[in-house]
Amino acid sequence: MADKRDYYEVLGVSRDASEAELKKAYRQLAKKYHPDMHPGDAEAEAKFKEASEAYGVLSDADKRRQYDQFGHAAFENGGGGAGGGFDFDFSDFGDIFGDLFGGMFGGGGGRRNSNGPRRGADIRTNVRITFAESVTGTKKQITVVLKDPCPKCNGTGAKPGTSPETCKKCNGRGQVTMQQQSLFGMVQSVRPCPDCGGSGKVIKDKCPDCQGTGYISSKKTIEVTIPAGIDDGQAIRISGKGEPGTNGGPRGDLLVAVSISRDPNFVRDGYDVLSEVRISYPTAVLGGEIKVKTVDGEVLYDVKPGTSSGTRVRLRGKGMPTLRNENVRGDAYIDLIVDIPTSLTKEQKEALLAYDKTLTGVDRPTKKKGLFK
Ligand SMILES: [Zn+2]
Ligand SMILES: [Zn+2]
Repeated sequence: MADKRDYYEVLGVSRDASEAELKKAYRQLAKKYHPDMHPGDAEAEAKFKEASEAYGVLSDADKRRQYDQFGHAAFENGGGGAGGGFDFDFSDFGDIFGDLFGGMFGGGGGRRNSNGPRRGADIRTNVRITFAESVTGTKKQITVVLKDPCPKCNGTGAKPGTSPETCKKCNGRGQVTMQQQSLFGMVQSVRPCPDCGGSGKVIKDKCPDCQGTGYISSKKTIEVTIPAGIDDGQAIRISGKGEPGTNGGPRGDLLVAVSISRDPNFVRDGYDVLSEVRISYPTAVLGGEIKVKTVDGEVLYDVKPGTSSGTRVRLRGKGMPTLRNENVRGDAYIDLIVDIPTSLTKEQKEALLAYDKTLTGVDRPTKKKGLFK
């Protein structure tokens, strides 16, 4: 996953490429590497899949936005362990091929019937947690509206006692074939049937509970386990909690993007944590023990004598837990800032003037004496 190529780079287009440019770039790559053109060539197949994956994401406005914002992390598991990464599912690309190539690659067994099983769409949602929760990991209850097959009609959409009829336009195939001019010459193109929407069935008497859709929507509360070390903008994939599939296909996934509230003390930099602590002038000069805040709570730190303001100290292993292994952690970097007092008591001022005299050997003229006497 780490060296996954940038999707724009894969397609060789700029980040602001238009839909038409994306399509053109993908069409060229797909034509070049399509497995039907290179039987048994694993490298061509890998390139083809890479390009298809990139196009699959960038051609979908919603996924493209996610990708632009989160990068590949938008489609990762949040690092919780299992799998992660973009789920390459050929069925997602049926429409792209239909769209780009018409029937050109039909008949090879690689195409799926449009009324075959299809995976449901993914659902996206957000959850906000505190910085402290991102250190320890947490569980959150989130509410999403999920569709389930209608119990009254068992998901058929037909009024109980009736059943969906075979579509007359496509004879139940779910597809219609048409002749079409394409960049490869005159080809037959296969499209989803307009009458039945590709299901191969039409419903005469609709189920009253679901209005013929076959689904009932309801609010569901789902517990999301957010791993320690999660960073702002990373998403957690909960498999099987997306839209239901069609014709027996699996459900899509639920993607939960995590936002982390700002913390007054800590700023995250990768797995390291940056913070500041103010120390007194005598502590900076003479050294001494101070209390330092870390994400685990306060620790004691021994300031070395002669420390200048802005000195950065590192506390190993006091940063964020890493997603892959909670026990492997980043470091804490703490800037020691010397406090310069803005007001002094008479006693403090005299002490400082006496100190100053040890450096210069003369009495420091005060404003009154120096300027006006
Ligand atoms: Zn129903
Ligand atoms: Zn039809």
